[in-house]
Amino acid sequence: MTGNRTFTMIKPDAVAAGYTGAIIKMIEETGFRIVAMKETKMTPEMAGKFYEVHKERPFYKDLCAYMSSGPIVPMILEKENAVEEFRKLIGATNPANAAPGTIRKLYAKSIEANAIHGSDSDENAVIESHFFFAENEQF
Ligand code: UDP
Ligand code: MG
Repeated sequence: MTGNRTFTMIKPDAVAAGYTGAIIKMIEETGFRIVAMKETKMTPEMAGKFYEVHKERPFYKDLCAYMSSGPIVPMILEKENAVEEFRKLIGATNPANAAPGTIRKLYAKSIEANAIHGSDSDENAVIESHFFFAENEQF
């Protein structure tokens, strides 16, 4: 799983707003294959672990509360150069700075409730995929 796979999750704000279908359509139309997908919910402890790299940041506590506030849709995606291509599709962290036509520009509510996650490296894509999908499952 190097180079051609990334991990994403549609975040609670976008799932609650009913944007799941529209976001999946954009992902598929951009040429990503959905390798694994489910709807689930994180506990605050799980969110804390998922975002552990940010634990010293001022937004960490709120972020963990928000990320465990409702259902999410995690997915493993496949496309050549997946990590970089997917970061382009989602746009900047702050939707106010996201390029037109990106998922965050279209669907994010705020810098925190920004509709969707995208892994930032091949290494993290693998780690984050295993957070939600069994390591021994063959996708
Ligand atoms: N975040 C936040 N406030 C900030 C920066 C980030 O609430 O000032 C949240 C936001 O949901 C973001 C997540 O923390 O997606 C992880 O931050 P990161 O810098 O890794 O952004 P991303 O990789 O998601 O674009
Ligand atoms: Mg990040």
